Amino acid sequence: MGFSEHHSTGLSGEIIEQTGVHVEKCYQCGKCSAGCPLSDEMDYPPSLLLRMIQTGDKELEEKVLKSYTIWLCLSCEMCYQRCPMEIDIPTLCDYLRSRSIEKGHINPKAKNIVKFHKAFLNSIKNTGRLYELGMIANFKFSSMKLFQDADLAPAMISKGKLHFLPEKIKDTAQIKRIFNKTISKKVK
Ligand code: SF4
Ligand code: SF4
Repeated sequence: MGFSEHHSTGLSGEIIEQTGVHVEKCYQCGKCSAGCPLSDEMDYPPSLLLRMIQTGDKELEEKVLKSYTIWLCLSCEMCYQRCPMEIDIPTLCDYLRSRSIEKGHINPKAKNIVKFHKAFLNSIKNTGRLYELGMIANFKFSSMKLFQDADLAPAMISKGKLHFLPEKIKDTAQIKRIFNKTISKKVK
């Protein structure tokens, strides 16, 4: 049976439908896990995450949504570049994060990462662009670690990685509508 004829159900089928990523194409060569800079920190390396989804086992699917891996993924695309089957793991992780939030399965270790994601999304929602200082303040307030990265910020500013003022795009109302319809529902 060719991949296109493969009938996928459960989480695997849902992933194809929502993202177009074909998890069933993975043949466990392990190149993604070998190239992933965060593999060692993850509870399941990327290739194992794919295998767990492939099984269609409900318990394993739940473990995937409760994993720390999906929150550690940086979307660096190392895995995607190395994958002989061109499986877009960053997009997959992005989708799994949104499902994890919806189902209330966020890994306890990922709490601060989730707060960062919410701060990031709020920044885009309010200004139409990423406002980094505002985002960091938002993150710090929500995580109650206001001064922890005080040393880091000046270095990032001098390297031009942080902007002081938000760069607004014209139609912020449009951005807000998009958020209200989609992402904001998922991050409440
Ligand atoms: S995109 Fe995510 S899973 Fe892939 S190599 Fe980067 S951190 Fe690892
Ligand atoms: S590189 Fe691609 S085919 Fe190989 S294990 Fe990773 S996802 Fe599967």
